[in-house]
Amino acid sequence: MYLRLTDEQKMVQKTIRRFVEKELIPLENDVLRNEREGKPSLPAGTLKELQLKAKEAGFWGINTPEEYGGADLGQMMMAIVLMEVSKTFVPFQFGGSADNILYYGNEEQKKKYLIPTINGEKKSCFAMTEPGAGSDTRNIKMTAVKDGNEWVLNGEKTFITGGNEADFVMAIAITDKELHQSTHGREGVTCFIVDRDMGWKSEYIHTMGEWGPAGLVFENVRVPEENILGELHKGYNLGLEWIGFARWVVGARAVGTAERLLQMAIDYAKERVTFGKPIAERQAIQWQIADSAVEIEAAKWLVLNAAFTLDNGEDNRHLASMAKLYGANMGNNVVDRVLQIHGGMGYTRELPIERWYREARLWRIYDGTDEIQRMIIARNLIKGHVKIGQYV
Ligand SMILES: Cc1cc2nc3c(=O)[nH]c(=O)nc-3n(C[C@H](O)[C@H](O)[C@H](O)COP(=O)(O)OP(=O)(O)OC[C@H]3O[C@@H](n4cnc5c(N)ncnc54)[C@H](O)[C@@H]3O)c2cc1C
Repeated sequence: MYLRLTDEQKMVQKTIRRFVEKELIPLENDVLRNEREGKPSLPAGTLKELQLKAKEAGFWGINTPEEYGGADLGQMMMAIVLMEVSKTFVPFQFGGSADNILYYGNEEQKKKYLIPTINGEKKSCFAMTEPGAGSDTRNIKMTAVKDGNEWVLNGEKTFITGGNEADFVMAIAITDKELHQSTHGREGVTCFIVDRDMGWKSEYIHTMGEWGPAGLVFENVRVPEENILGELHKGYNLGLEWIGFARWVVGARAVGTAERLLQMAIDYAKERVTFGKPIAERQAIQWQIADSAVEIEAAKWLVLNAAFTLDNGEDNRHLASMAKLYGANMGNNVVDRVLQIHGGMGYTRELPIERWYREARLWRIYDGTDEIQRMIIARNLIKGHVKIGQYV
């Protein structure tokens, strides 16, 4: 066991860190100003240019297999990259990747949906959640009924990330009610790839963050048989796989953001003088800094363990739940303390802290709430699926 990054990992970390410092952080004031004025954070053209710059530096399709033009760096590298890029709130994403479940498509679907998504020509979204089924994903009501060579979809989805911009949605619908009931929701649902021009509508949902997901409405939307993704009646597992992938990623984002915030707090505490002394000399402030540093370090190890376990070909779901639960809560604790250390300034929109404060709240909700992660972790241990101390 060697608890340090390899030379290659260090090099990737350094390159991304330089990219963030040189290309992204200088745009932060523009982002804050645009958002204060109710405009998009950055023009789409600027984000595209940044993606191309990252591509020139070799960062394109970080987790995409080489046969699709990606760098295929693996999950550990992905964690390192995400932790670095999350040190800024500039809404940048590396190009060249697609949803994990799109790789289950057949050759035709790969040509029509996967490759254009990787190339940035098409945008996707994934829709499981419904107004009556969030945590309880087995309670979905959307139906797909076969009619000749087509399936007719009816129902509603909600809180769909990217649903306002997507060219197509991967939507989960009930295709066999009896099977759905008899298997307690595990079977009898199917994942459909549905182009926007097949007729679904989206509506922006305003949130406390700087972006909003969408509500989607399907009214007699006709989808050709060949647009079933994966197997008929087996879409539930695809849904779980899509959600599962994003879990430890939330923890990685929280670590990067918290590291940047903690540095801001340390810098500010050394400069801000009250009652004749910098606040950094007060124990009340030092303890907040110390607690934050310890929690960040703990979350980082959980994230790296989840990523390493997946790269090692092992099931990482238990660790992913831990990384998400702890990382999301750590991120919320740290941003709250950092805001407190900045006093009134922390509460203003001159600084990005209040923005991160609002964004961090989401980490405890999507991709499985805190309560659902706790339920999974406890169930794994009680049922003996995972043993205490199993991984190290
Ligand atoms: C901004 C945003 C983006 C999202 N993006 C997507 C997306 O792209 N695709 C998608 O399909 N979904 C998406 N979601 C949906 C998200 O995954 C759900 O909101 C989340 O899983 C919680 O579901 P819910 O909101 O229905 O809450 P509920 O399930 O109604 O839960 C309400 C409360 O009860 C608790 N609770 C529920 N069940 C239990 C239990 N058994 N024991 C104890 N407590 C329980 C929950 O933890 C929560 O605190 C997104 C949500 C948001 C807010």
